[in-house]
Amino acid sequence: MSPASQSKPLTLALSKGRIFDETMPLLAAAGVQVSENPETSRKLILPTSNPDLQLIIVRASDVPTYVQYGAADFGIAGKDVLNEHTAQELGGLYQPIDLNIAQCRLCVAVREGFDYEAAVHQGSRLRIATKYVQAAREHFARKGVYVDIIKLYGSMELAPLVGLADAIVDLVSTGNTLKANHLVAVEDVAYISSRLIINQASLKTRGQRLQPFIDAFARASTT
Ligand code: AMP
Repeated sequence: MSPASQSKPLTLALSKGRIFDETMPLLAAAGVQVSENPETSRKLILPTSNPDLQLIIVRASDVPTYVQYGAADFGIAGKDVLNEHTAQELGGLYQPIDLNIAQCRLCVAVREGFDYEAAVHQGSRLRIATKYVQAAREHFARKGVYVDIIKLYGSMELAPLVGLADAIVDLVSTGNTLKANHLVAVEDVAYISSRLIINQASLKTRGQRLQPFIDAFARASTT
């Protein structure tokens, strides 16, 4: 590795919103403060109070890509995102810690009044709308249910309401979004939380600088 990249600050990739908010206490536990808020700042590279650490703000589904290619040394990504990403059989990522943040469930949900159990028992072919194609495919294959999966990029809750799908597979936290759209969760697909991921080459060449952060995150996430 060149001297220039050795002196570059460590880069942590994060997404805005829940993961960013719930990572701040973990950074504080490592003695790091972040003065800018990505919700109000347009900056995509945020400095921190530690000159050896900067944050980059990327889409949640892009975090593994930045880490995998070494553009970020480490990152924090939901298990939902990692499941879909590793499905592309991309290597180079090391997942040492479950940080227990941004917890939620990946669920099957249907319109109120739709008899999901009966549809499954009758062997009906179900149309499932989801962003989580891989997880949904595996779930229904395990159950032996025939499904047509329709890939969506957002607002999955709409699909059963307008006849695009019989059911959705989506993240549920408080359940308020489902309720507001007259949907009910009928099955859990997976428990989801966010994980620390590390670029394998960074761990080899910059491991001494990364380790204090990894240790602080691990301690803070279990307390
Ligand atoms: P809720 O109304 O609290 O059940 O939240 C549901 C909405 O928030 C859905 O649109 C989900 O896709 C999204 N959501 C919930 N939890 C998470 C999470 N941990 N990460 C990303 N999106 C989430």
